Amino acid sequence: MNYTAILQEIYQQISRLPVTGTVAATIPELAKVDPGKFGIHLTTIDGEDYGIGDSEEKFSIQSVSKALTVAMAFASLGERMWERVGVEPSGNPFNSLVQLEYEKGIPRNPFINAGAIVIADMLVSQLKNPKQDFLEFVRTISGSPNINYNSKVAESEKQTGFRNAALANFIKSFGNIENDVEEVLDFYFFQCAIEMTCKELAHSFFFFANEGMTRSGRQILTQSQVKRLNALMQMCGFYDESGEFTYKVGLPGKSGIGGGIAALYPKNFTVTTWSPGLNEKGNSELGMNALELLTTKTGMSIF
Ligand code: GLU
Repeated sequence: MNYTAILQEIYQQISRLPVTGTVAATIPELAKVDPGKFGIHLTTIDGEDYGIGDSEEKFSIQSVSKALTVAMAFASLGERMWERVGVEPSGNPFNSLVQLEYEKGIPRNPFINAGAIVIADMLVSQLKNPKQDFLEFVRTISGSPNINYNSKVAESEKQTGFRNAALANFIKSFGNIENDVEEVLDFYFFQCAIEMTCKELAHSFFFFANEGMTRSGRQILTQSQVKRLNALMQMCGFYDESGEFTYKVGLPGKSGIGGGIAALYPKNFTVTTWSPGLNEKGNSELGMNALELLTTKTGMSIF
């Protein structure tokens, strides 16, 4: 497969499209990002790298981090993790509160904010120095020791994260948060404020495509655990647009309101895109377009 030529074609086609999405407004610091940015990076299972556009520029990974926290929690807690968070699509927006009340504080899945906050609580309980340990985990799986978080973005979300505070308090009222709500939210805002390039993100997601093993040969999860998380990303990785993403792209993946998307074709490649303009569901408009072009041109999708 000539990925250099394919990415070039995609880049040219995407460059001709108007930038119509809107940059995330819920976090003021994110609203400052240039909406015209676009990058795409693909890493094959053999370790070859192909990138084009702004693929080596750092951006706020936001909810893409949820796939990494859930992997870390799954590695240490195993199946008992699912007693506190479900594995079903929600069909609701990422920050919705509605299902939580009648489902008694058990979030539908780990990729909506409610679920990711419960996973954050698990990690706060499990880890000695949660922020530092998670950052080290991300640096290890990506092979990039210079990955860090943006304190301005984390602070900006802390100032305006009223919905996430509401979710955390509501879940706590059902007894599904063990730690202090402030501490859990502080960790959650931290994980969302981690910055990576498309290339670093593609490397971080490599183990999802490689049966649980990182590029440097570290077994993070078992083959069966990775199957489960990829299935969850397929069903829930794009909030109430997960069906649309599956229909158009046909790969498991995770989006974030920083405009990033990480997707993968098991045993073949990981691919990441960054374009800050979001559609009304909070997913990167051009990123979704680019990935649809990729699987259409190559025929490489899991369906
Ligand atoms: N930090 C964001 C929030 O909780 C993440 C949402 C997203 O990226 O979809 O609102």
